[in-house]
Amino acid sequence: MRNVCVVGGGVAGLAASIFTARAGLDTIVIDGGESILARNASLENYPGFPDGVDARRYLQLTREQASNAGAEFELGRVTHVEPVDETDLEQGFVLETEGGEPLEARRVIAASWSDSEYLVPLDVGRIKRGSKHFVDTDEGGRTAVDGVYAAGRLAEEPHQAIVAAGHGAKVGLAVIHDSDANFYHDWVAPEGYFTGRGREVPPGCEEIDDAERRERDERARERMLEAFAEPLDERPTMHPSVERNED
Ligand SMILES: Cc1cc2nc3c(=O)[nH]c(=O)nc-3n(C[C@H](O)[C@H](O)[C@H](O)COP(=O)(O)OP(=O)(O)OC[C@H]3O[C@@H](n4cnc5c(N)ncnc54)[C@H](O)[C@@H]3O)c2cc1C
Repeated sequence: MRNVCVVGGGVAGLAASIFTARAGLDTIVIDGGESILARNASLENYPGFPDGVDARRYLQLTREQASNAGAEFELGRVTHVEPVDETDLEQGFVLETEGGEPLEARRVIAASWSDSEYLVPLDVGRIKRGSKHFVDTDEGGRTAVDGVYAAGRLAEEPHQAIVAAGHGAKVGLAVIHDSDANFYHDWVAPEGYFTGRGREVPPGCEEIDDAERRERDERARERMLEAFAEPLDERPTMHPSVERNED
C-alpha cells in the first residue's frame, strides 16, 4: 500500500507529488495521457522564465524533479476507485487502471483534469458545469471523502499553470499534514540558520553549508544548460476538433 497515489501527472499532480515525496511519503503518480499544457504554444506567464519557456520542456523538467524527489510513475488511465474497506477509510483505496494491475494507496489526490468519472463510486461531490465536471473541495483540496483530495483545474482552480502548480503544492501539504509525517516546512536553509540560535533543524527542513550550496548550484546550472541547449522537436498538441477538421 502506497502512502499517496496521485492521479494525473500534469501541472498540479506533479507539484503535489514533489511535496509528498520530499516529505518522505511513498508516492506514485499514475498518468493517463498528456497534460493540457502540452497544447500551449509558448508559456509566458509562469514566474521564473522572463522570456517564457516551451511548455513541453517545462513539463519534462517538472516530471524529472518529481522523480528526483522520489515519486514513482506509472502510465495508465485510472478507471475506478473504491475503499479497501467501506466501513474504515483508514484502510485506504483500491485504484483500477486500464489494462494495469490494481493499486492500493492510503490517500488519493485526483489531479486529472478533465476526467473524474473514476471517482463516481466514492461520491466525493462532483459538480457539473456545462459539459465539465469539477470536484468540490475545502481549502486544502480535501473532498467529502476522508483520504481523497482534488487538485488543480479539477478542483475548479483558475485555468492557469502557475495556479495549478501552487494548488497542487497546497494539496500536497494538506496530505502531509493529514498523514503521520513529521513535518514543519520544506525549506533548505544555510548552515546555522536554526542551529546558530540553539534550535534543532525542524522536520522537513535542512541546513546546508556553503560548499554544499555551491555544489548544488553547480549541479542545477549544469542540468539547466543541458536541458535548454537545443529546441525541442515536439510541437504543441492541437485541439482535437481542429485535427478532425484537417482529416
Ligand atoms: C491551448 C492552451 C494554452 C494554454 N496556455 C497557458 C498559458 O500560456 N499559461 C498558463 O498559465 N496556462 C495555460 N493553459 C492552461 C494550463 O495548461 C492548465 O491550467 C493547467 O495545465 C492545469 O493543470 P492541471 O494539473 O489541473 O491539469 P493538466 O495539466 O491537464 O493535468 C491533468 C493530467 O491528468 C491526466 N489524466 C486525466 N484523466 C486521467 C485518468 N483518469 N487517469 C490518469 N490520469 C488522468 C492527464 O493525462 C493529464 O496529464 C493553456 C491551456 C491550453 C489548452
